[in-house]
Amino acid sequence: MNDDVILSAEDLVKYYPIKTGVIRRVTGHVRAVDGVSFELRRGETLGVVGESGCGKSTLGRLLMRLEEPTSGRVTFDGIDMYSQKGGAMRRLRRDIQIVFQDPYTSLNPRMTVGDIIGEPFDIHPEVAPKGSRRQKVRDLLDLVGLSPEHINRYPHQFSGGQRQRIGVARGLALNPKVLICDEPVSALDVSVQAQVVNLLARLQKELSLSYIFIAHDLSVVRHISDRVAVMYLGKIAEIGNDAEIYERPTHPYTQALLSAVPLPDPTVQREQIVLSGDVPSPANPPSGCRFHTRCWRAQDICKVEVPLLVERPDGESGHQSACHFAEPRQIVETAQL
Ligand code: SF4
Repeated sequence: MNDDVILSAEDLVKYYPIKTGVIRRVTGHVRAVDGVSFELRRGETLGVVGESGCGKSTLGRLLMRLEEPTSGRVTFDGIDMYSQKGGAMRRLRRDIQIVFQDPYTSLNPRMTVGDIIGEPFDIHPEVAPKGSRRQKVRDLLDLVGLSPEHINRYPHQFSGGQRQRIGVARGLALNPKVLICDEPVSALDVSVQAQVVNLLARLQKELSLSYIFIAHDLSVVRHISDRVAVMYLGKIAEIGNDAEIYERPTHPYTQALLSAVPLPDPTVQREQIVLSGDVPSPANPPSGCRFHTRCWRAQDICKVEVPLLVERPDGESGHQSACHFAEPRQIVETAQL
């Protein structure tokens, strides 16, 4: 594995059995993640974007080994994560931490902020021995822009943005190398979202962190991601660096997502690509290209042949798209007079 790569997924699969009837017979599977491969480089942010139900949060949990995969491999710093046991796995967990989506429900309302942020030290006392814990928590509060004096307050005494800062402080308590940010701003007001994204960007530089930043909207990850992976029904539809994804998307699904991003300037209009229908069920994904039931470019081959995630011969290195007819298309913006 390349030294520059800190985390990699190889053909990662997670199927959940569907059980029906009195004897709970397995009658099918929800294919939440279905053959996902990528690499996360040191110090970079990989945005993972897709509609709800595309498997991005399951992917986040698999990368932390909060769930066991059906098959596939995750390698952290050259170590095969799923073969680790006991103390070795516990040490590995320290290095990959998560910030959850909803700061309103992910913080225990009966615990003080000091206890919430310091909780990981119960499992990993080697990071902060008993006598130094309060000071460590105060330092973490200061790091995320909250007053250390608020250590004895409860979550309800903070605003939504402040609560997410508490979630970030807890995520950083064990000095991780990788932070999985699972929709960290989607429950927040738009005005507060940028503050939390800016905080994460600053912390990344200061602490040399690598991020997986999960979101359902391309606009949220735009300013923080070095590369973006777009997921559809458990698979990566397109992956590339941010300029390629935002300026020259080649997959029709990415193009549609981009056209749906709201523009801040009401005098500018963007070309609209409207997708028909809803995302199909991951328990019964369409044959061939999973996007063909909603794709305006679909042809007969798309219904039978699964497109591989590959670079176009004339495309840029590392820009891969899973489409038989991948072609760059800039989403046009026009000023309204
Ligand atoms: Fe659309 Fe076909 Fe490309 Fe799938 S393979 S995205 S259906 S054109």
